Amino acid sequence: MSALDLASLPKRVKVCEMGPRDGLQNEAAVVATADKVRYIDLLSASGLAMIETTSFVRPSAIPQLTDAQEVMTQIERRPGVTYVCLTPNLRGLERARAAGVRAVAVFTAASESFTKRNINMTIDESLATFGEVVRAARTEGLWVRAYVSTAFGCPYQGAVPVESVVRVAAALAEMGVDELSIGDTIGVATPNAVVDVAAALQETLPVERLAMHFHDTRGTALANVVAALQMNVATFDSSSGGLGGCPYAPGATGNLATEDLLYMLDGMGIETGVSLERVRDASRFISGVVGRDLASRTYRALEASAARAAACAS
Ligand code: MG
Repeated sequence: MSALDLASLPKRVKVCEMGPRDGLQNEAAVVATADKVRYIDLLSASGLAMIETTSFVRPSAIPQLTDAQEVMTQIERRPGVTYVCLTPNLRGLERARAAGVRAVAVFTAASESFTKRNINMTIDESLATFGEVVRAARTEGLWVRAYVSTAFGCPYQGAVPVESVVRVAAALAEMGVDELSIGDTIGVATPNAVVDVAAALQETLPVERLAMHFHDTRGTALANVVAALQMNVATFDSSSGGLGGCPYAPGATGNLATEDLLYMLDGMGIETGVSLERVRDASRFISGVVGRDLASRTYRALEASAARAAACAS
């Protein structure tokens, strides 16, 4: 049996922080605009290359996201950080542009039953709708990301064939999307499935345009990251503290935690340019705001040793 060959893995990973949008959207409490702004500013200070900040959905659609405009105009935008906003339609794109947004994202899925239930469209209808947004965004010189959710399993239909993921990804790549984030929405992926999907996708698009979005619902997220690294994937989505529940498994943890990802990558000698302690600071702040403890194991370990040190000092 061969050892894990660290030398063959990517030397540097880009971390895309999901806490402010994906994370907070799945929290029960509605967070005040000023707290969101403070949270994003703390995350910006950590060295993260990309932060998904909000979504320009119809203001009445999701109470948690009615302040997209205010958030984007109030945050301190640091050079070198890409602030991505979801823009589900042309109206959202227009509002995002008015708020000075330079990077946008659209959202579809690899399973027909999921797009039907979630956005009330077939996959092809969603590709047509988002195609308009992608084309308009690219004409205006914006950077575009696309999410393909339920790539490893669907809460309604169960298994999702690799060919479905490839078909959707190929259509998005064809539209000129800059980066594709492949999502394990319900947290069912295991490393072998990650290798299969990553291998199939790389026949369609260069690995540089590929990101993976894992959920830790069943504790497999970090194992999946290692499998993806072995397939040369070097962009991962995560959320500080593991913020955000899993909408399809009430009570379960959702996004892979940024702290857990950073701890592992650092231990493996893979650079991210992100300060684990500063992300912890942002998590500590938002934990106070949402009024609950966060799921990240590394965050908890850091907080426990900080508490121990404080107790010893007093
Ligand atoms: Mg997520």
